[in-house]
Formats: sequence, structure tokens, C-alpha cells
Amino acid sequence: MAVSGPRIGVFGGAFDPPHKAHRALVEAALAQLDLIELRIFPTGQAWHKDQALSPAQDRLAMARLAFAGFPRTQVDAREMLRSGPTYTLDTLRELQRERPGAQLVLIIGADQAASLEKWHGWQDIVSMAIIAVAFRAAVAGAAGQGAPRILPSPPPGARFEQLDIVPTDVSATDIRARAARSDDLSALVEPAVARYIEQHRLYRTP
Ligand code: ATP
Repeated sequence: MAVSGPRIGVFGGAFDPPHKAHRALVEAALAQLDLIELRIFPTGQAWHKDQALSPAQDRLAMARLAFAGFPRTQVDAREMLRSGPTYTLDTLRELQRERPGAQLVLIIGADQAASLEKWHGWQDIVSMAIIAVAFRAAVAGAAGQGAPRILPSPPPGARFEQLDIVPTDVSATDIRARAARSDDLSALVEPAVARYIEQHRLYRTP
């Protein structure tokens, strides 16, 4: 059930690699959502991603580089340490046990929000956490900048907030393709992440 205690932000992703839009999302969340803390969760085996992900240790290292320096923010590796598929619901339940009384705020991009009803235990998720939705360029355009229409019939008590970000169509998919062509990534990822990709020769095969 939603509570009104201090708000903890929860932001998960494959972060393969983490990019500027992820950082914009974190920056906006810290500025707009009144969070005492923001936890970032690189996924283990993401149940909803088709492609094989880069090794967990690489994605974790890049996430630490990408999100270093944000106040009140920490990268939490627990989903990578869990065996089996990664479910956001399990993470929210663990956090709720660890921080009773806190209000969890799940931060997702609009593309993820559009398929929220396919998430494992989505009804429990929306009853446990406020869902803060950030819009990507294409989706914001299609939605006409209107209020977020997340679920056709949200369960009673579900709470949604809109996260305003400067829309950008940066995606990890595009960055991996560019890395495979040895393109310059400096406009898309943090310099330390670009160096990591280069040094570890990630994404060399398309
Ligand atoms: P891929 O291209 O491999 O699917 P991605 O760029 O979507 O990856 P993820 O790690 O899957 O990156 O994303 C983590 C979260 O960040 C998701 O909630 C996703 O919706 C959100 N996100 C990613 N890119 C953007 C963007 N350009 N604008 C808004 N949200 C974004």
C-alpha cells in the first residue's frame, strides 16, 4: 500500500551501456521527485530483453562510472546477484522490508510504462510504489505532451507522476551499433564509460 514516508527512488535498467538519457532521468528524478535517496539497479537476467546482455561485471562497472557524482544516489548490485530472472517486484519487496515506512517511487521510461501490464506482478508493483514516468522523444510526440496515460484501467490506489526530461532519442541499442562501427560515443555516454567500452572492447560485434 502507498505510504507517505520519505521517498526512495528506484531506477532499474540493463545499462548496456548507461547513457546520457539515463543520466538525464536521474538528474530529473533528484530534482523533481523529492527523494531522500535514489537506488539504481542494473538488471541481472532481464526477463523482457531479447538480446543477450553484456556480462554483469561490465554493466555494473559502467553504471558506477556513469552515475558517480550524483548526490543521494547509489548503484545497488543486488539484482545481478540474484539467481534466475530479475523481477522488479522482488526488489521492491526487499526494499520495503529494509525501509519500512518509506514511499518507493519507481522511475521508468515511457516505453517501459506502455508495457507495464506485462510485468511480473504489476498489480502488486503499482500498489507498492508510485510510478514516475519519463517521456522519450518519440513517445512524447505521439502522446502530444499530454498527461501520462499509463494503464487503460489502473487499479484503485495506483499513483502515477510525470517526470519531465528534455526528450532525447538516445538508446543503448543505437550506442552498441555505433560502438560496433568504432564511431565516436562521446556525445552519448560519459567519457569514463566511453573509455571503459574502448578498453574492454565491448560491442565490437554487431
Ligand atoms: P536498449 O536500447 O538496449 O533497449 P535502453 O536505452 O532502453 O536500452 P535501458 O537500460 O533498457 O536502456 O533503460 C533503462 C530505463 O531507462 C528504462 O526505464 C527506459 O525506458 C529508460 N530510458 C532509456 N533511454 C531513455 C530515453 N532516451 N528517454 C527516456 N527514458 C529512457
